[in-house]
Amino acid sequence: MGPKNEIKRIRLEQAFERIRVLETIIEGKQHEITELKIKVNEKRASKDVVSMMLCTLLSEIDEDGGEWFTEDSNLNKINRLQSLISNLTSKKNAAESIAEMKSSFLANMSHEIRTPMNGIMGLTKLLLNTNLTEKQNEYLRAIESSSDTLLVIINDILDISKIEAGKLSLEKKEFLFINLLSSVVGVFEGKALEKGIELVANYHKNDLPEVLVGDSVRLNQILYNLINNAVKFTQEGSVTLTVNAVEMSGEDVLLRFTITDTGIGISQEQQFKIFNEFSQANSSTTREFGGTGLGLSIVKKLVELQGGSVSIVSEEEKGSSFIFEILYPFKKISESSISVSNDNLDLKLGGTNILLVEDNPVNQLVVTDLLNEIEAEVELAVNGQEAINLFDPEKHALILMDMQMPVMDGYEAIRKLRAAGFNVPIIALTAHVSEVEMDKCKAAGADEYLSKPYKPEELYQKISQLLNTRELPSLAFDLDDSTALSLNVPKLWDRNFLLDYVGGSERLMLKILDKIKSEIPKDLEMLIAFNSELNREKLGSICHKMKPNIQILGNTSIYNLLLQVELDARSNDGILSLKKKVGILIEKLKDLLEELKA
Ligand code: ADP
Repeated sequence: MGPKNEIKRIRLEQAFERIRVLETIIEGKQHEITELKIKVNEKRASKDVVSMMLCTLLSEIDEDGGEWFTEDSNLNKINRLQSLISNLTSKKNAAESIAEMKSSFLANMSHEIRTPMNGIMGLTKLLLNTNLTEKQNEYLRAIESSSDTLLVIINDILDISKIEAGKLSLEKKEFLFINLLSSVVGVFEGKALEKGIELVANYHKNDLPEVLVGDSVRLNQILYNLINNAVKFTQEGSVTLTVNAVEMSGEDVLLRFTITDTGIGISQEQQFKIFNEFSQANSSTTREFGGTGLGLSIVKKLVELQGGSVSIVSEEEKGSSFIFEILYPFKKISESSISVSNDNLDLKLGGTNILLVEDNPVNQLVVTDLLNEIEAEVELAVNGQEAINLFDPEKHALILMDMQMPVMDGYEAIRKLRAAGFNVPIIALTAHVSEVEMDKCKAAGADEYLSKPYKPEELYQKISQLLNTRELPSLAFDLDDSTALSLNVPKLWDRNFLLDYVGGSERLMLKILDKIKSEIPKDLEMLIAFNSELNREKLGSICHKMKPNIQILGNTSIYNLLLQVELDARSNDGILSLKKKVGILIEKLKDLLEELKA
């Protein structure tokens, strides 16, 4: 081999090595470069150019073989490619640090906004429960509804920013599908009734999977937004939610959700625009219906983040259908780890003591009140140190821990409690909403996490979930009791109904039964007294109060009787027939009580 050929060989090998390195870099950067394109809005000088140049390069190599590399101009091409990539990498790093700043700014902002919002909303609720003049009540209701609206807008803006910063991660948790559907439809029942439009839930429980694995909060948000729009833009006719399982394999199901309304419709031209941020079909929409134009763009992004797609079919003056499809893994309830199923659980925690750790007096008031509503006893600690001093495992069934407090914050307090070996359920309360914050709380040892402001139902749901999955001294029943119960088939109450109601948890069922057993005698006593006093108003109220307990026992005949007495007592129907009905009711309740005690 002559010296000229030797040089050629070496250059060829070097060039191949560089190409190899380039290829790996480009392969590895593919994803980052695509992301970068979005982040810095770098429209052209990115992946496409790099891969185009690489393609030309490789095809030239193919054609000319080894000869090609002897050309200096070709080696220059490779050098240019490399510098393009390093250029892109530094832009990517810059974009990342901007995104980082944006997300921490957002997290702080949301903390700053949510804390006072929590105070406003909580105090409004408390004030509404006090003695007010009609005018005051009206003003407060207006404050309540304005703050609800404001919170929706704040959440929308935070959501959009989070999605854009690529910071919105989706949960992959099991959830009860039908419960989610009925609860989101339920939210709009009042509104639909008020507007005189029909709200139709068009799906069959048996055709749909029981448990889905995914992000229930986001699915709820998508459905909420679409149904909310449908109800908002429909003055007469109906709004229908249809859910179909389009395809089902052994593990996955492709679900199609269709929200159809008979409202104002959307023109062809506008249909292209309404998924854009801040876009409304026309400016009069804002004046007439309010809104920010963020709802649909969030819907679209959330559906797409879950690998799905949204489409719209609409005709002006006739109505609209919004259709989206998402593929979910699914399970049978028996294969899942879900234990508490009922979101509407009428949770009563008489005898349960909860340690509330909170420094803010407003939040102390709000949470104590919410806990008293479910009859829990509350003990207060004003910081983490005091919580540690006060905590008594024999007494406290659960701890609600604010995370930002003076003296000792929630993280440290939880870590110390866990280090001391206490496995009491702890719910962290914070004003932050980020995933990072949630991880921080969980890493410290909290079982659950609530970001302020939360709805009472969310708090109750978390409490019920945690109390239900732990063995608690006050809730423990000895085995003999429960076996006796399952052997004795009751006639006046429906064991399966109640068990179903509490999501299959025997322990919760027994706890509820215990509570009902202690409440019925008191109610019965009042019923008898009000009956002999002939006090219609009080009779009506006591029957109203008893209904939920009887309903979950599945005794429809007593339930119907309570309902009749309540209605009769409130109308001016003959007192004799009322007394007769109450007489029958008293007898039936006594029988029921006997059976419950047996
Ligand atoms: P917002 O409702 O807050 O204005 P959205 O993004 O949810 O924002 O909706 C954007 C626009 O799309 C609305 O302002 C409205 O003009 C139109 N739109 C959405 N849903 C419907 C619907 N069901 N019927 C008619 N118009 C709709």
